[in-house]
Amino acid sequence: MNGTHLKTRFAPSPTGLLHLGNVRTALFNYLLARAADGVFLLRIEDTDAARGHERFSEGLQEDLLWLGLAWDQGPQTGGPDGPYLQSQRGGVYARYFTLLEETAAAYRCFCTEHQLDAERRAQLAAGRPPRYSGRCRALTASEVRDRLAAGQPATLRFRVDAGSVVGFKDQVRGPQQFRTGDIGDFVIRRSDGTPSFFFSNAIDDAVMGVTLVVRGEDHLANTPRQILILRALSLPLPQYAHIAMVVGHDGSPLSKRTGSRSVQELREGGFLPLAIANYLARLGHSYDSNDFMPLDMLARAFSIARLHRAPSHFDETQLLHWQKEAVLHAPADELWRWMCSTTPAAGERIDNIVPSGLAEQFIEAVRENVMTPVDAYVWAGNLFAGSAYDGEAREVIVAAGAPFFTSALGCLQAGAGEFRDFSTSLGVATGARGRSLFMPLRAALTGAVHDARWPRVWPHGPGLDRIWNLLGPARVRRRLEEAARITGAG
Ligand code: GLU
Repeated sequence: MNGTHLKTRFAPSPTGLLHLGNVRTALFNYLLARAADGVFLLRIEDTDAARGHERFSEGLQEDLLWLGLAWDQGPQTGGPDGPYLQSQRGGVYARYFTLLEETAAAYRCFCTEHQLDAERRAQLAAGRPPRYSGRCRALTASEVRDRLAAGQPATLRFRVDAGSVVGFKDQVRGPQQFRTGDIGDFVIRRSDGTPSFFFSNAIDDAVMGVTLVVRGEDHLANTPRQILILRALSLPLPQYAHIAMVVGHDGSPLSKRTGSRSVQELREGGFLPLAIANYLARLGHSYDSNDFMPLDMLARAFSIARLHRAPSHFDETQLLHWQKEAVLHAPADELWRWMCSTTPAAGERIDNIVPSGLAEQFIEAVRENVMTPVDAYVWAGNLFAGSAYDGEAREVIVAAGAPFFTSALGCLQAGAGEFRDFSTSLGVATGARGRSLFMPLRAALTGAVHDARWPRVWPHGPGLDRIWNLLGPARVRRRLEEAARITGAG
């Protein structure tokens, strides 16, 4: 493949929200184009103009942009091969329909749904795979004219003569061969005049100069039909790469039940774009490195040779792993905007809770213990919105006893600046060590002993040294006094 001329595309049908499975296809195409300094094109396949498709079309563009997968050519951006909405490309298709009819590579078919259905059932009953019988192949030109004049609805069928083989080399699955006898004549224009998927998709890839089609393996069996159409029109063939599907933990296609979510749901749940990209770029594709990478690095090391042939299993734990990484790597200002994006029940925003001027320090104190904006909000509340202690924290505080906190206040008073120095002198003063030293302090300073939201990911909350610096001596003193009160010493 000549890298400098690589042109990939994402060609969604706007019939629903973008999900993990289809957005992975978009990502792979994007990364391949970026890796080769090529062009990534977006085409909206809205030929059957189902209701509501404008909303889905806009939604998927928004999702792609949010993920950072900006297209070089397509809706909004434009480009030399537009329009990029198939619903606006009727004129292009009409030319090729005419050419195919003129060369008798396609013919009008007047068979009704009812006839076709009966035919299919009879073939199945006889143990044969259903194929179009070819009834309308032999209609003469005048018969066709008469029927059209009589207003009979007609589809346009592409003629596929039996007896040969269509072969191509799939970039992922290797050499493929399909017998034309197994394909049969197929519809390329519906009776309402709209092009079938096989047709418009293949024509557009060719005329838009797409050189590599990366799509789900469910389209593998469509490819020979598309190759036949392009050959009949002497249009250039792209290379094809059919990628294995994403399946749930039980091996069934990815669905809501098996953990799939829409990009919109992930965004609303607080996932960061690069978490999704780092996860999906490794779902059915391997890198040498397990490091978190920005999009340009994911692209540089992305290769078609590293795509897997076996289906990939969606794994929520992995997605969470990359989310943690994305939070760790995000620039502070971006993370702050992300943290501010949530307004949980009370409608209070984190920037009303974290004292002004402490945002950056707050971010650095909690970012290792935050998976979603709500987590950050909870930590902000624990640390700054009064002294809320959960039941476990109260127990630990009470068990440590009043003298522990009296000593703690004493050590603080003595001017121990760093948390290390403070905890060392408190250890000396009370004889407490390890858990019995740190747990009561954690309970007093953060209001919780365990991470309430992700206990299996993080056993405890943020590092006490960072909390110590963030709170500052006055707040620390107030919290130690409050803990002393809880023990009954107040
Ligand atoms: N519109 C088709 C789909 O969403 C495109 C398939 C392809 O990528 O060729 O499945």
